[in-house]
Amino acid sequence: MPTSLNPSSQASANTAQTAVDLPVHVLAGVGSKIEGQLEQLGIERLFDLLLHLPRDYEDRSRLININDLQDGQSALVEGQVTYVDNKRSGMTVVIEDATGALQLRFFKVYAGLAQTMTLGTRLRVFGEVKISRYGVQMAHPEYNVVAPSAPVVNTGLQPIYPTVKGLHQNKLRTLLKLALQTVYQQGLPLTIFNSSDWEAVNHLPAPLPKNAYGLPVTTPTQQAVNTTTNSSAPSWQNLTLFEALTLIHTPPMHTDIMLQVAQLEQLKERTHPACQRLIVEELTAHQLSMLYRRKQLHQHKAPKCDKQSPLAYKLLANLPFSLTAAQNRVVNEITSDMATSIPMLRLVQGDVGAGKTLVAALAACYALDSGWQVAVMAPTEILAEQHLINFKAWFEPLGIGVGWLAGKQTAKQRREALQAVAENEVQVVVGTHALFQESVVFAKLGLAIIDEQHRFGVEQRMALTDKGVADSTPHQLIMTATPIPRTLAMSAYGDMDTSIIDELPPGRTPITTVTIDRARRDEVIERIAANCKEGKQAYWVCPLVDDSSTLNAQAAEATYADLSERLDIRIGMVHGKMKGAEKQAVMAAFKNGDLDLLVATTVIEVGVDVPNASLMVIENAERLGLSQLHQLRGRVGRGSTKSFCVLLYQTPLSETGIERLNVLRDSNDGFVIAQKDLQLRGPGELLGKRQTGNVGYYVSDLSRDDNLLMIASHLAKRLINDDSRKAEVTQLIHRWMPEASKYTNV
Ligand code: ADP
Ligand code: MG
Repeated sequence: MPTSLNPSSQASANTAQTAVDLPVHVLAGVGSKIEGQLEQLGIERLFDLLLHLPRDYEDRSRLININDLQDGQSALVEGQVTYVDNKRSGMTVVIEDATGALQLRFFKVYAGLAQTMTLGTRLRVFGEVKISRYGVQMAHPEYNVVAPSAPVVNTGLQPIYPTVKGLHQNKLRTLLKLALQTVYQQGLPLTIFNSSDWEAVNHLPAPLPKNAYGLPVTTPTQQAVNTTTNSSAPSWQNLTLFEALTLIHTPPMHTDIMLQVAQLEQLKERTHPACQRLIVEELTAHQLSMLYRRKQLHQHKAPKCDKQSPLAYKLLANLPFSLTAAQNRVVNEITSDMATSIPMLRLVQGDVGAGKTLVAALAACYALDSGWQVAVMAPTEILAEQHLINFKAWFEPLGIGVGWLAGKQTAKQRREALQAVAENEVQVVVGTHALFQESVVFAKLGLAIIDEQHRFGVEQRMALTDKGVADSTPHQLIMTATPIPRTLAMSAYGDMDTSIIDELPPGRTPITTVTIDRARRDEVIERIAANCKEGKQAYWVCPLVDDSSTLNAQAAEATYADLSERLDIRIGMVHGKMKGAEKQAVMAAFKNGDLDLLVATTVIEVGVDVPNASLMVIENAERLGLSQLHQLRGRVGRGSTKSFCVLLYQTPLSETGIERLNVLRDSNDGFVIAQKDLQLRGPGELLGKRQTGNVGYYVSDLSRDDNLLMIASHLAKRLINDDSRKAEVTQLIHRWMPEASKYTNV
């Protein structure tokens, strides 16, 4: 067996623990009940607690004039009641000070409220300000009746934390102060960066996001820090991690109200230098973990594959078309990697229809010609089946055995398949994650091809690399149709080399996309039926009801029944709950033109290739992600007929909802769409849940912090090659990624 790449057993051996790594129960007052509540918030260590950042702050230090109020601000205001409107639907009260009027809205009118709210009463209210075309409002503010010019009891700035039932703000505030104190008293180093690291990133071309933060940051120890670092450095670099945490949990008071409001706004938005200080550290830890994985991988040996492949020539000669320039370039990049004994880890990105499958098949040829086996893995059975069909068609005529391993096989089929793989009777094995399982033993695995990488986690990928023969790690080729914006690629795939197929095969006709209100669904049905009668083929994609495949299948079945009853065209259906053979038969019938309309769930999102299908209707399009819609739409526009995609949406649709669908209507470019998706929905949605689980950030947000990511990437590269700092680096990764030990040997 090769030495494992994910030896979780050794992982924690060299982790030096510091105060922040201790469990929260070391704090006074944290018993099992509070420990449980904190756990619900994802807090186990002191470090987790310190990174439990306020979602807002209350400023009760002073009264704010009504005309100085800003939208979203939590403020203390004093005024006299000048209007009361008490209805069953709720109560509106207006208070006025010398500068303006503020509406207080109470949707629940409880006993005592009506008695208090009488004209002329002087109130002091605290709440979140909402400014809209209806005026300046507060909903359900806290209120007190006060005598004129009563003194303000200054309770300072109070952080408000995300919490769970039963765990009060005051308790969290106390715990955080205690945690900060504990860390301070231990005097242990919290950070691994030194001034020369900062020096190094100071010289980066554009180190600063939007450059001016506008705020002088004052902390007790700042002066001392300032003398040791470049005074022209951006202020986040002047903060130690401890200072940054202190500032976030106990922000200083500014006497200047504008500064105060701006500070709280920046803290809330996480654009404050103190937040940025944390973000740089966190992103660096993540970058480092990936560089580490890469470094480890490079210590292994992979099979050298000959750069000449007769098989590839034969395969190409059998095709009715030639490679695009982009496909050619990417195949070259891959085979250059495979010609060395350094294990390849290459991500091939290409928009839907760019021809990734063929590129993968050619890569396979080089491994096969050098006597190695190839595994081809896809995240869903339907996609794996498509690959099976293609690979069989391409390879079997050339005398290469193609095997199949998936979840839904009989015990006998599986046993035979496993044996064929183990005895090198089949040289190409196609399958789902069933290929990762321990019982799968390859005779000579040389190349693992993984399609649609974002559905697989890093751990799974690592499991496959352990399946090489003794002293040999397979090359890995990963293909994704989700065009990944640079930021995201850097953070999620920083350990890989990337190739981009940035060209579609010739002869494709652009898809026209329209958005239509669901109220006009009947019209759409008529139009589709008419088109089908003219010999066109269409997909009807059913709404994603929820995460459960059963419910989604039911939605597809209902639509299938309904459309079958209404229309006299040939209709078929596929969904995730159907048996493999059943699905295959339906897909084959559709491909052969024996069906006009295919009702489907999003199982057809990836890989399905029926060039004659030129129409697609997607119901409840507003519920799907942009990239997912783009993938779905990529099932049409594969032939020479003009293709149409109809996005049916349910009204009312929010402004973002409309904006999102319009992005799709206006662009056929996967990169443009992915970038927009990242902005509108955040990285988790784009990469899929599993991947997000690995990325799991405390403070960072890739759509907001991309400039900081550049800095982090630089810092990480600087640290990774400095052996004298290995222990610090290990500590940093473990602190920010306690889960990393599962797949990173640091
Ligand atoms: P994707 O990148 O989305 O996985 P596929 O590999 O499914 O795309 O390819 C889409 C279609 O384009 C397939 O029918 C494939 O045979 C065809 N194709 C691939 N490369 C070329 C090419 N160079 N010229 C013409 N058609 C091609
Ligand atoms: Mg594909």
